Amino acid sequence: MSKYTKEDIIRMVEEEGVDFIRMQFTDIFGQGKNVAITPSQIGKALNNQISIDGSSIEGFTRIHESDQYLYPDFDTFTILSWYEQQGKVARLICDVCNPDGTPFIGDPRGALKRVLEKAAAMGYSFNVGPECEFFLFELDQNGRPTTKTGDEAGYFDLGPIDHGDQIRREVCLALEKLGFEIEASHHECAAGQHEIDFKYADALTAADNIITFKQTVKKIAYANGFHATFMPKPIYGTAGNGMHINMSLFKDGKNVFYDPNGPRGLSKEAYSFIAGLLAHVKGMTAITNPLVNSYKRLVPGYEAPCYLAWSASNRSALVRIPAARGNSTRVELRNPDPSCNPYLALAVCLAAGLDGIEKGMTPPDEITENIFDMDPAARAAQGIEDLPNSLEHALDDLQADPIISQVLAPHILTQYIAGKKKEWEEYCTRVSSWEISKYMVLY
Ligand code: GLU
Ligand code: MG
Repeated sequence: MSKYTKEDIIRMVEEEGVDFIRMQFTDIFGQGKNVAITPSQIGKALNNQISIDGSSIEGFTRIHESDQYLYPDFDTFTILSWYEQQGKVARLICDVCNPDGTPFIGDPRGALKRVLEKAAAMGYSFNVGPECEFFLFELDQNGRPTTKTGDEAGYFDLGPIDHGDQIRREVCLALEKLGFEIEASHHECAAGQHEIDFKYADALTAADNIITFKQTVKKIAYANGFHATFMPKPIYGTAGNGMHINMSLFKDGKNVFYDPNGPRGLSKEAYSFIAGLLAHVKGMTAITNPLVNSYKRLVPGYEAPCYLAWSASNRSALVRIPAARGNSTRVELRNPDPSCNPYLALAVCLAAGLDGIEKGMTPPDEITENIFDMDPAARAAQGIEDLPNSLEHALDDLQADPIISQVLAPHILTQYIAGKKKEWEEYCTRVSSWEISKYMVLY
């Protein structure tokens, strides 16, 4: 049942003295977009009458079919408390529709909804808990981000060497005001790297929350004179930013991954879901790890996975099963990074897992050793394949996977691949500072 009615929102806008309402959505690459309206337009907005020019949004429509309408999801109404000093700002997250009211096929939120409907038809709801990592970098005198962190702390370190402590605390308080339940906030492995974890939610809310989380972290960091980045690997030779995705399926209020009598307390569905993830992860990687830079994180030695294996505890594996059981039983996929479009990433994860369940797949044996210590021959002997090692290979693998392609097809798939191929080509033809230092003097 919906939390808010149209009348509730009109009343809250009035009672709270809201000055602006941001009508939010995302493009296919996960960039947050919005149209701000004043309270005078709220009736129109709640009747789905705010239009946008889709031809100006990355991956949306062509110029001759450009009118699209924003259909706000009433339950996403929230006052963005961190905007208060510039007037009160609220937001509504919207679905994008065609002029006839049908969902626009290129809306990433719609793509996730379509897979969630499929899961619902199988009796499942899908819960997701993301773990977003980020760096805080100092700004230079022109307000541009540097790669200086001014911080020498490491995993779980306590202040005063942890210079991000104050910002993390402010972020947590701001998120709590937005209704988030914060489960943990800590310094991560690398200097200047942090993580804040919030409670799992149904996948649509979780994807909305990831967008809000990133926006909040960036805003509060900037207000404190820092730049927050979710770029996967900002600094060579140190840990990158992951966004591990913890997933579970529920049926009739019960976690279907839990079976006290199954091996390791896991059900047949849990094993099939894991098998589905492993079967499709190569095809999913262009979505879960969408940047050229994403593949510089997926290298051995930094707790980011690069080989296809699962384990109940081993952090070098791609899929890990955290120790909690009962309703907290979950599968953690470790390759995604926070530069992904969360709607598409969760859509492809769910589609892969459901395919595993539908086809009754079984996963290979668990790998308990540190895979980073195994040489290629040892990995081959155990049938451990590699994740794609570049955006280019990941795009080939996406096109070769009909189940994952289907989640995005036809519109998002075509636009996404075209945009990402262009990004890859741009990267390949640029001369990097590494090449200059390596070759300039020598040749
Ligand atoms: N930063 C690591 C990554 O890139 C993860 C560290 C952790 O286990 O939290 O995935
Ligand atoms: Mg972490």
